[in-house]
Amino acid sequence: MSLKNPRGDMYPFVDWLWNPIRGRCQHDCSYCYVKRIVKRFRREQAEPHLVETELRANLGRFGVIFVCSGCDLFASDILDEYIIEVVAHTQRFPDNIYLLQTKNPQRIVSSSFGISSGLHQICTTVETNRWVPGVMGKAPPTSLRALAMARLAEQGYVTSITVEPIIDFDLEKMLQLIRMTKARQVNIGADSGKNNLPEPPKEKILELIAELEKFTQVVQKKNLGRLTT
Ligand code: SF4
Repeated sequence: MSLKNPRGDMYPFVDWLWNPIRGRCQHDCSYCYVKRIVKRFRREQAEPHLVETELRANLGRFGVIFVCSGCDLFASDILDEYIIEVVAHTQRFPDNIYLLQTKNPQRIVSSSFGISSGLHQICTTVETNRWVPGVMGKAPPTSLRALAMARLAEQGYVTSITVEPIIDFDLEKMLQLIRMTKARQVNIGADSGKNNLPEPPKEKILELIAELEKFTQVVQKKNLGRLTT
């Protein structure tokens, strides 16, 4: 129960992980590390469910907490009442910052679930501007994710983007998508799971970083070093 220390390739700015929702993620991305772990231990993933005991977790103070790092809290098959209960619990510990990362930010545009711009920061993944069948599973296209993030930024939310695992892209279109989201920060990382993704060459990644740094803060994750050094 409760908060866990980040391990492996987690964001360097995250202090804690909190996973009150567990089970299968309907987005089914081919590179999903959760699926990989489950497979390694030859387990079956349950249907998504709320772990009631997590609603008694002490979330403490002064931390950056990544909520539902092992699933997508806003996937369309997560019940509204689960989301409302999870968000309500974060509000009981208002001295933290909560990172809500989702590939379905449109769901937050449609219903706020009590999310507040002072407490919660919203992030989406833009692996590439392209649609890559067989990799991005059933997740909404990155163009739709970016459009929803633009709406959330207009509503006053702090938005950020994660380009991880980075997949080959078209520079101008990629920049256009990210600029649209008004992201205050862009995290860039590479595949850590040997998933044989179509990755961009080093020069293209460095050009993307240089262009992004003209309008936002860029955080390069350690695992990007495999492609950039
Ligand atoms: S959205 Fe995240 S948790 Fe869900 S399948 Fe994709 S990588 Fe896994």
